[in-house]
Amino acid sequence: MERKKETHEFKTEVKQFMHLIINSLYSNKEIFLRELISNASDAIDRLSFKAQTDSKIIGSDPDYKIKITPDKENKTLTISDNGMGMTYEEVVENIGTIARSGTAAFMEALKNSNNKDTLTPELIGQFGVGFYSAFIVAEKITIITKAAGEETATQWDSAGDGSYTIEPAAKDARGTDVILSLKPVEKDEQDFTEEWTIRNIVKKHSDFVSYPIVMDVEHDEYETDAEGKQVLDKDGKPVKKGTTVNEETLNSMKAIWARDKKDVTEEEYKDFYSHISHDWNPPLTQLHLKLEGLTEYSALIYIPSQAPMDLFMPERKHGVQLYCRRVFIMDDCKELIPEYLRFIKGVVDAPDLNLNISREILQQDALVRNIHKNLIKKILDTLDQMDAEEYDKFYNEFGAVIKEGIHSDWGNREKISKLARYKTTKSDGKWVSLQDYVNNMKPDQEDIYYITGDNLASILNSPHLETLKEKDFEVLLMTDPVDEFVIQSLPEFEKKKFKSAEKGDLGLDKVDEEKKETFSSLFEKVKSHLEDKVKDVKPSSHLKDSVSCLSGDAYDMSAYMEKLLKSTGQSMPDSKRILELNIGHPVMGKIQAIFEKNNDDDSLKDYCNLLYDLAIVGEGGKIENPARFSKIIGEVMAKAI
Ligand code: ADP
Repeated sequence: MERKKETHEFKTEVKQFMHLIINSLYSNKEIFLRELISNASDAIDRLSFKAQTDSKIIGSDPDYKIKITPDKENKTLTISDNGMGMTYEEVVENIGTIARSGTAAFMEALKNSNNKDTLTPELIGQFGVGFYSAFIVAEKITIITKAAGEETATQWDSAGDGSYTIEPAAKDARGTDVILSLKPVEKDEQDFTEEWTIRNIVKKHSDFVSYPIVMDVEHDEYETDAEGKQVLDKDGKPVKKGTTVNEETLNSMKAIWARDKKDVTEEEYKDFYSHISHDWNPPLTQLHLKLEGLTEYSALIYIPSQAPMDLFMPERKHGVQLYCRRVFIMDDCKELIPEYLRFIKGVVDAPDLNLNISREILQQDALVRNIHKNLIKKILDTLDQMDAEEYDKFYNEFGAVIKEGIHSDWGNREKISKLARYKTTKSDGKWVSLQDYVNNMKPDQEDIYYITGDNLASILNSPHLETLKEKDFEVLLMTDPVDEFVIQSLPEFEKKKFKSAEKGDLGLDKVDEEKKETFSSLFEKVKSHLEDKVKDVKPSSHLKDSVSCLSGDAYDMSAYMEKLLKSTGQSMPDSKRILELNIGHPVMGKIQAIFEKNNDDDSLKDYCNLLYDLAIVGEGGKIENPARFSKIIGEVMAKAI
């Protein structure tokens, strides 16, 4: 049956949608090209999928491509593809109604939205607005399309004024031509028939479309002499012979995440990494994922080999870009990757992404949340499976960041704690996992010991560790600010409790109660002397060689934590600590002897100050009165030597 030309009305929702996008995207006109290229690329995707089971469908046109043809004279821009094309029925069905559930939902949300401010042009511009966006730049659109394997083609015409016509047409090859009759170019606006304008838009928005986007480009040809040198005219300018036209590919097509792993070379992975990260060091490793099923997405995720400068700066950008079917949606997509994996770079492509959602509600989108969850799992598994040498490299750069997850990602706390590494009193500068620590615990050791501080050398030599060293118990040396928070979120590992080496009673040795008793009056005296500096004076459970140290109660803040909080500008009362004295040390015996002779001896006051100052010096702190300290030391040395 020969069809006649018919006129149809657009559905009401199409009219509304067109009105909305044409008005709101007015300042971002160029995205229409991204939308048409994306449709063309989808049509080729569908064809190539079908060709897997029906190779005849390709016929004599096997090279997939999208062609852009500007015509300056007639002021048209044509976007052609040799994809699936559409039948007459499909044109009626797809163009003129709103087929996508996404768009319909978008319209619905818009109708219900009281806050019109959230629908800024930038926001809408980030999402797929589809074919109708072409009416932003076109006063009339013609589609000529022929479905693969069909005999007849179909022509569709509309001036975007509420109706369209549809009729049979002639077209040789399968695929679709979308011909835009462009609106007159307004002052200071882009001319979409200009070669450079087209090049730039394609590069910016559609570079990773995996089919070539081509355009015929004219090149001037110049006269040459017999030796191949350019002939110059009398003004010294080359003499033009004519022009040639070459078909040029405008996009790099490196949508390598959409390709099969086995078809991508290491070189290509590296190139792509540099392209998206602007980091010229090769990445440590990459993860190329393709998930099907309920949560469908593909991703190409990189773990860099070096930490960027801004890793700890609040204004840093996240490195993950979100794509939908190879069309760029947004970069810096925080919703896909948690803060503690912020060093990850890469691309996530979610074909079923609900394009009408705003950045603000992206986090609540079920698909985005599932991808988020899934990516974390994949990344943590990859880290877990790295060989020790590679993992050490990773940990040197990003260890302090990933540990944040123990504090912030409750669900993955255990997994992340297995990835944590610490230097220890026994590891000689090497990283040790908590598992290895537990495996190496002494038979009589019950707890995991740790000490925090900002400087490895000073905590390694802390007097608090003396008893533990003598017992040959290993101690974790925690030097990252985040460790203080980690330890609060991680009370135990493998059923072993974490115990601070500098707080509370270690409870390792039976205290000699009798000896303790003999010192009790002296300790009272020391305490009354140092009343405004310490909250208590106790026989030490930490010390072996040193005579004094300062410690906290088990639930006190550590000295390092206090320093950290002060450095962030929090005002805090100076918390008093406990002065621990080593009653096994000969000095304490001597002071006790003086005290027994005359409990008001003048020297006692000096010795009290000295014991306190020594404790401060021992932990690398600053003493209040260095002059007094050195004077007393001088006197004591004079007596002793
Ligand atoms: P979307 O592409 O997001 O589904 P559009 O409004 O842009 O929404 O397009 C509607 C439908 O028209 C598409 O889903 C597709 O079926 C069809 N279509 C659009 N452009 C083409 C094309 N170049 N080739 C084949 N079909 C197309």
